[in-house]
Amino acid sequence: VELAGKKILVVGLARTGGSLVRFLVRRGARVTVNDRASEETLGVRAEEVLKMGAAVRFGDHAPEAFACADLIVISPGVPHTLEALVRAAALGIEIIGEIELAARFIAEPIVAVTGTNGKTTTTHLLGTMLARSGRKVFVGGNIGVPLIEYAEAGERAEVVVAEVSSFQLDTIRTFRPRVGVLLNITPDHLDRYPDFAGYAAAKARLFENQSEEDTAVLNGADPTVRAIGRGLPGRRLFFNPAESEPGGAFSGGKLHLRPISGKSGISFPDAIDFSGFSLPGAHNLENAAAASLAALSAGGTPEGIAAAIREFKGLPHRIRLVAEIDGVRYFNDSKATTVESVRRALECFDTPVVLIMGGRNKGCDFAALREVVSAKVRTLILLGEAAGEIAETLSPPFFGAVLHAGGMEEAVSLARETAKPGDVALLSPACSSFDMFASYAHRGDVFESAVSRLAGGEK
Ligand code: ADP
Repeated sequence: VELAGKKILVVGLARTGGSLVRFLVRRGARVTVNDRASEETLGVRAEEVLKMGAAVRFGDHAPEAFACADLIVISPGVPHTLEALVRAAALGIEIIGEIELAARFIAEPIVAVTGTNGKTTTTHLLGTMLARSGRKVFVGGNIGVPLIEYAEAGERAEVVVAEVSSFQLDTIRTFRPRVGVLLNITPDHLDRYPDFAGYAAAKARLFENQSEEDTAVLNGADPTVRAIGRGLPGRRLFFNPAESEPGGAFSGGKLHLRPISGKSGISFPDAIDFSGFSLPGAHNLENAAAASLAALSAGGTPEGIAAAIREFKGLPHRIRLVAEIDGVRYFNDSKATTVESVRRALECFDTPVVLIMGGRNKGCDFAALREVVSAKVRTLILLGEAAGEIAETLSPPFFGAVLHAGGMEEAVSLARETAKPGDVALLSPACSSFDMFASYAHRGDVFESAVSRLAGGEK
């Protein structure tokens, strides 16, 4: 892939944008960077790209900056539906995303993980499985280190494990994971896609360049995922498999494996012991099954997989126990930004739950929570922009006790007032955090400090 001398426009200057510029400049491209934010707002990042020798166009998406490019590369956060991009596409200019560019420079096999929920957990667990199998592995993509930084670095891994989002898949052309994992597809990001079918179609693109030698790891219990799996050319391995399907199924604390008969080429153990797995909920068993099947397909050993299962303690902001105060256990699940992840979190608990929900709705229909909320939740505490909408959807006759909080502090003290010993107090918002917080992590941190102050007040 020749970049030298080409006029390349990079759109979006956050961390990945900066890495894109460095990568392209080092390969002799003539780079212009565009961001609709002003130079002052962009701060040091703007200074850095100027120092690297890039031209800049900040403050708007000026059409002339787009019209004269040979190639446009967009950062993961930039919607490909931007008017300036649509016009450039009409002019015949090639537009690709960061993972597409990076993958053109990565010779190592890529294992890519996507789905509505569980991507980060599964990606990390899979990375640990391969590492414990003695493989030299790079883990990144949509989380942590962008693929373009791996492509830039001199040090090579044997396998690249990447989390990929639907937005990143919107801008691929040749991206071909040798193993692709599709965890689930439930309503999400309906503020950015025309409808559910459009969102599912974006996820399905994970497999569009796969061939017969490649592997798809699929959720056998998800009808949308099954439908996508039907047309694929390569091996198909299912977690939640139907009768006699190849893949892995749980029973008695073990993942029982069924290989692909005949030409498979991968040898499977009969079962892997999952008894030491510490993550809560059936959804995490699904994530672990998906990771195991992907690991086996990418050179992982049964011993390495079992070791990772025992060691992996999960990630912050995903159903994490923060403290137990007066017999009430407080859990931070700030990363639950979809209705489905809230449902899965509630299903982890047999005791009554005081649930803190709300934030900015990403296009979810909260009515899907009526049944599980009325079965599990003692008190619903709402905050943020979507509070009114949630209250309307989950109020009587569907649910009784709804309280409103002005902020996270207040939500936590309301939780304390209404929870009874033995209850769980759970932050699981079903919304993004951007109405009140910088990120889901910021929201989770604020929740945890409020809980810690409660605990501190105890002593
Ligand atoms: P992602 O990277 O796809 O957002 P995470 O692993 O960060 O996934 O988890 C995000 C949220 O979804 C957390 O609240 C987590 O508890 C929940 N979750 C994790 N795996 C699943 C799954 N397989 N199905 C539904 N919800 C899940």
